[in-house]
Amino acid sequence: MAKKIQAIRGMNDLLPEASPGWQYLEKTVRELLARYGYQEIRMPIVEQTALFKRSIGEVTDIVEKEMYTFEDRNGDSLTLRPEGTAGCVRAAEEHGLLYNQQQRLWYQGPMFRHERPQKGRYRQFHQIGVETFGLNGPDIDAELILLTVRLWRELGILDHLTLELNTLGSAEARADYRQALTTYLQDFYDELDEDSQRRLATNPLRILDSKSASTQKIIEGAPAFDHYLDDESRQHFAGLCQFLDAAGVTYTLNPLLVRGLDYYSKTVFEWTTTALGAQGTVCAGGRYDALVEQLGGKATPAVGFAMGVERLVLLLETLDAFPVELQQQLDVYLAASGQGADVYALLLAERLRSEQPTLRILTHCGGGSFKQQIKRADKSGAQLAILLGENEISQGVASVKHLREDKEQNEVALSELAGFIHQHLQSR
Ligand code: ATP
Ligand code: MG
Repeated sequence: MAKKIQAIRGMNDLLPEASPGWQYLEKTVRELLARYGYQEIRMPIVEQTALFKRSIGEVTDIVEKEMYTFEDRNGDSLTLRPEGTAGCVRAAEEHGLLYNQQQRLWYQGPMFRHERPQKGRYRQFHQIGVETFGLNGPDIDAELILLTVRLWRELGILDHLTLELNTLGSAEARADYRQALTTYLQDFYDELDEDSQRRLATNPLRILDSKSASTQKIIEGAPAFDHYLDDESRQHFAGLCQFLDAAGVTYTLNPLLVRGLDYYSKTVFEWTTTALGAQGTVCAGGRYDALVEQLGGKATPAVGFAMGVERLVLLLETLDAFPVELQQQLDVYLAASGQGADVYALLLAERLRSEQPTLRILTHCGGGSFKQQIKRADKSGAQLAILLGENEISQGVASVKHLREDKEQNEVALSELAGFIHQHLQSR
């Protein structure tokens, strides 16, 4: 036999048994976003490499070591998108959605990062992203957070999530602080972990959220950003906190929350859980007022976030928060045996689907004895089996077998079959 070809490490197949959970999450999010007036946008998965270098930042983890970058046949450098914000800004600018307008957009799809695969961390993973453009007040920051709170509540996981908030101030404030932080950390250079030593020259703010215990100890004595925060950002942040207080949203202020992408300014936030081990951030975002201009557009304020679909699905599974109906994917299994029964069965199934559009009915196809077909029906998870043999066909009836209840088989006239099935499923 030829050697089998396997999937790429860190890139997962989503199997049929898992897809109802994904569909449930995606549907819940899609309907919720519609209730807030957000519109879907779909961007290509591949973009020019320069787009990510310029937006995410040259010295971030993503650009330095995680991107899938390749040359296409024309010699252009292309990259599989590692996140959605850059492409969303590119598309919105390219199609004139930005200047002097307000936009509330969302997208979903796969993202690609060459990270070490582990639970909750993959090389192809999925995000649902939400971005708003043209709105500069803290009210829209608050709306985005309220929207996530409602989503967690409707998914039944709010009690297991914590909201962390911080402000990164203006670019100038960050530059001043960066200077002060670098000066302070230089004295401790030898005691810093390796990553942090490297970041000291390139991206010292990232050292603040280093996972190394010894580095964290040094950070405790570092100058506080609060001292450098500009007035406008301070007011913006106070405004956001007021909105959240008024709405009764609980949050934790985390001055060490800096996020891994360069484009953030002012508000940043993360939703985290302790239920998933180390990969506990399920949703993260913030304001990026400078990005549109940085990518060649007119200055446009923007704020957004992205949630990690795999991590949310894992969390829903861990907390047993999926609705029970999800396990039930089929109502009726239609079995047929005898001369001409196969055509008869297909036509009856079509008729039932027309009469009862919500009915989920599977036609056996492929023949075989009733015994074999009923075995399949049982395995399928359907509530009812409809049996069509030569007797049934000649009399214009169907036999209905109850697969999950200890009940007598019924003989039902075809004209009453849809109503009978409907009533039976309703009463369950
Ligand atoms: P982390 O700190 O966990 O690496 P991040 O800051 O790199 O996350 P973002 O770029 O902000 O993540 O992406 C938003 C969300 O997408 C994360 O909060 C997470 O839920 C999810 N995510 C990011 N990277 C991965 C990955 N490699 N596999 C699965 N989900 C991911
Ligand atoms: Mg990361």
